[in-house]
Amino acid sequence: MGPLGPVHDGVRRLALTLPSYAFIAMLLVACASMGFVQPWQSAVVIGYNVVGIGTFYGLVRSGMSTALAQDSSLAFQRVLFNASMVMLAYALIPMARGLALQWLCLTILYDMRRMSKVQVRLAAASAYAMLIGTVLLILQCSPSSIDMGAEFVNVAMASVTLCVLLVVTQIGQGVNQHRKQQQLELERTVAQLNALSIRDGLTQLFNRRHFQTLLDEEVRRNHRCRRPFCVAILDIDFFKRVNDQHGHAVGDVVLREVSRLAQGAIGPTHALARWGGEEFLLLMPETLLPAAMDTLEAVRRAVSEHDWGQHAAGLCVTLSAGACEHGDDLNVNSTLERADRALYQAKHGGRDQVMAASA
Ligand code: GH3
Ligand code: MG
Ligand code: MG
Repeated sequence: MGPLGPVHDGVRRLALTLPSYAFIAMLLVACASMGFVQPWQSAVVIGYNVVGIGTFYGLVRSGMSTALAQDSSLAFQRVLFNASMVMLAYALIPMARGLALQWLCLTILYDMRRMSKVQVRLAAASAYAMLIGTVLLILQCSPSSIDMGAEFVNVAMASVTLCVLLVVTQIGQGVNQHRKQQQLELERTVAQLNALSIRDGLTQLFNRRHFQTLLDEEVRRNHRCRRPFCVAILDIDFFKRVNDQHGHAVGDVVLREVSRLAQGAIGPTHALARWGGEEFLLLMPETLLPAAMDTLEAVRRAVSEHDWGQHAAGLCVTLSAGACEHGDDLNVNSTLERADRALYQAKHGGRDQVMAASA
């Protein structure tokens, strides 16, 4: 959500409540015009509504609501205001008393999802306290206007209804929370699967499929912006012998160690992948051949200078590599073929060396 997001959201939420306020106002006007309610009583309740909504609009529109509360639409505060408005109508208009309970519940239900569990409890308790307070006030000021039996039923029903409302709210919020948690876990799992799907299980380097994607992207970039790039094929020397002499498990350790050493010797923008077996591919974006050769030499040295004896007595590992710069006249397959030919030359030149593809 952008910086204006919470304000717009708050205003939208407030606007959605306007029809219900308008309906109440129209009902009061109609009742007044038909003589069921005295005009001044309707005017007081409508005036209270207008001032309240105006205040909320001002707070939300100015962005003050975001500073005052976590919820930009001020749901909790509006529920308290609505409850006070219902109580005002309750005190002034005896005819409205039967409706008070429904109003109270509706007002809490409407904003239930926007309030925290504590706020829902507080809102229900406040509404209940307001109802008791209003009944006591009416008893004090105008006992003749009150039907004790009806008020008793009202208060008793309010107790039950608000309690049921609380329980339903808690269940609803629990279900919501569970759903959100599941959604979060699902997103996390998808992210993990995505990360796994581009990696080789043994070495954790990129796998062949992902390397192909990166290579295709680089070729497109090369076509668009004439950005040079190099590719290299690296191959562990006499790896079969490592397996034969030291066992497959040591062979796996060598693959992992070579990957780690190579990863540490290449640049941050370079992408190293396991092509298969003991062969690796290196993509070097925005790199000309001399720089690519320097990088490969650094990888070769890191591998040949590593203390392999710590993994198995007498173990010695080297690698050979061939590199090629992608040219406009080449398709990427011929670039790879030329890198492979350079690797072949490195092998035949005695191994433990890096070769550049001849132009
Ligand atoms: P060269 O110097 O010519 O590359 O010789 P090389 O022995 O390295 O090449 P060769 O292709 O003859 O042998 C590759 C070996 O790599 C054979 C295969 O058993 C082994 N290998 C392939 N994948 C794995 C793996 O995941 N783990 C282990 N331990 N060995 C593997
Ligand atoms: Mg090999
Ligand atoms: Mg090989």
